[in-house]
Amino acid sequence: DVLADRPTGDAVLELDGVAKHFGSEAVIEDLSLSVREGEILTLLGPSGCGKTTTLRLVAGLDRPDGGEVRLNGQVVSGPTQFTAPEQRGIGVVFQEFALFPHLTARENIAFGLHEWDESARESRVDEMLDLVGLDTQGDSYPDELSGGQQQRVALARSLAPEPAMLLLDEPFSNLDVDLRVEMREEVRRILKEAGVTAVSVTHDQEEAMSISDRVAVVNDGQIEQIGTPEQVFQHPESRFVAGFLGHASFLSGYVRGAEVETGVGIVPRDQIHGLATEYDMTRIDVLVRPDDVSAVPTADAESGTTANGHIVTRRYLGPTILYEVELDNGDRVQCMHNHDEQVDLDEPVRVSLEADHDLAWFPREQRTGENGGDRSD
Ligand code: ATP
Repeated sequence: DVLADRPTGDAVLELDGVAKHFGSEAVIEDLSLSVREGEILTLLGPSGCGKTTTLRLVAGLDRPDGGEVRLNGQVVSGPTQFTAPEQRGIGVVFQEFALFPHLTARENIAFGLHEWDESARESRVDEMLDLVGLDTQGDSYPDELSGGQQQRVALARSLAPEPAMLLLDEPFSNLDVDLRVEMREEVRRILKEAGVTAVSVTHDQEEAMSISDRVAVVNDGQIEQIGTPEQVFQHPESRFVAGFLGHASFLSGYVRGAEVETGVGIVPRDQIHGLATEYDMTRIDVLVRPDDVSAVPTADAESGTTANGHIVTRRYLGPTILYEVELDNGDRVQCMHNHDEQVDLDEPVRVSLEADHDLAWFPREQRTGENGGDRSD
């Protein structure tokens, strides 16, 4: 049941077992998801995973080879049904904005409203200019507007005809970094204020997490996990999801009753989210993100502590520095420090975990040079 994870609200869009092949290559196989009214859902995944193909199937620019696409409960793509794109009432915002250069902002926004009578059209355009914060720029041409303003016009133009839903294809990729961060918040505000149901696609995990109500992590044409940004980030269900959503390192652990032994010491079992009892006396991998870990040079560490690792790489990220520490048992973990807590390469450090952070885990995966299996001691 594609609605199983949907506690409330009517589904505006449903994909049910959708498949798409190009030649002999299956780009999408058996993809199901549903998007409820007013929700912003983002398909997040690496280049080539099938995100754009999925959007094209929803828009009706391509026909699926299997499964069904339903819009407000009506089949728009299926074995015996295909509704033309212009009849679906779906708005699309492309990454290049695609504004008409010879039309003003106002005329661009009015473009899809040719069937409206003039006074309704004018007041709708005013309403849209107001919504996107361009009420004084209506008479400007696209080349007189900044990238962020052009994007606002593109959004306003797509929203003006009151679409059943909106699709956004990598909407921020043409903006520079600062503007991108600002526009994420703006686009979310505008979509929420318009109350429109939206599906966006991106390969940028920060963007996905900041604009979406739910994120579907796509890998190789399939959804690996779907959930709120917090759920997919904090409780990834696969190593792919863990690694795609942020820096992920793994501590090898051995579960012994209420404790898990790791290269940074004993971790209480209840700090590890949902660790099933059947995993007692077995090896697991504990997922740690840079903010779960701290590494203190042993010279500064409280007296009596000894090093359990040393710094092997240091990556300057501007406001913070990302370190990789090799633990005495060979595991490598990453941690993020501010400038006032700098550590030198090769410096011996005492690594510990933040006690109040909830950690995710995975059954042990065999690593190279290991014979694997449970430890017998
Ligand atoms: P990107 O972020 O790079 O756009 P994506 O996740 O959107 O990636 P798609 O554009 O959906 O990926 O493409 C998925 C796969 O399908 C790719 O391997 C691509 O080469 C292939 N593909 C897409 N469209 C076609 C087509 N019309 N004919 C043949 N192969 C295609």
